[in-house]
Amino acid sequence: MKNKKKKKGMNYTSMKCPYCGSTVEYRSAEGIYKDNHKNVMLYVCTNYPECDAYVRVHEGTNKPVGTLANSKLRAMRLEAHKLLDKIQNKGIMTKNECYQWIANTIMAPLSQAHIGYLGEYYCQIVIDECKKLLNRKRNFYKSKKIYQLKVV
Ligand SMILES: [Zn+2]
Repeated sequence: MKNKKKKKGMNYTSMKCPYCGSTVEYRSAEGIYKDNHKNVMLYVCTNYPECDAYVRVHEGTNKPVGTLANSKLRAMRLEAHKLLDKIQNKGIMTKNECYQWIANTIMAPLSQAHIGYLGEYYCQIVIDECKKLLNRKRNFYKSKKIYQLKVV
């Protein structure tokens, strides 16, 4: 009964830092982000800055976009997102196809196939697979170009 009620108005501050086990506080990114003119809110490890783990929230909500991440994992997630954007912008896959593809790639249920949930290990797999995919496409277009040149 209690759990059911909790689901809607989740209290995310009950999260624990996955790195040091400290409690997590909900606070402004002020002093953490170099530029916080967007007034981003974060869940930050209370051991910050000794422990550099935090996660931002979905805009306009108090819902974290994923699990707390340290600087290395944050950089990896950013790279994975950029590669996925590229894949979508090039029309290789739609957003939905991307998430299905991630789920297949890391062998996880679709509900878990979000970059924000991935740790370093799976994040690296997604990055590598994205690069492979983009490379394959590049070679495909290259060969097409050559073919077209020959035809002309
Ligand atoms: Zn921590």
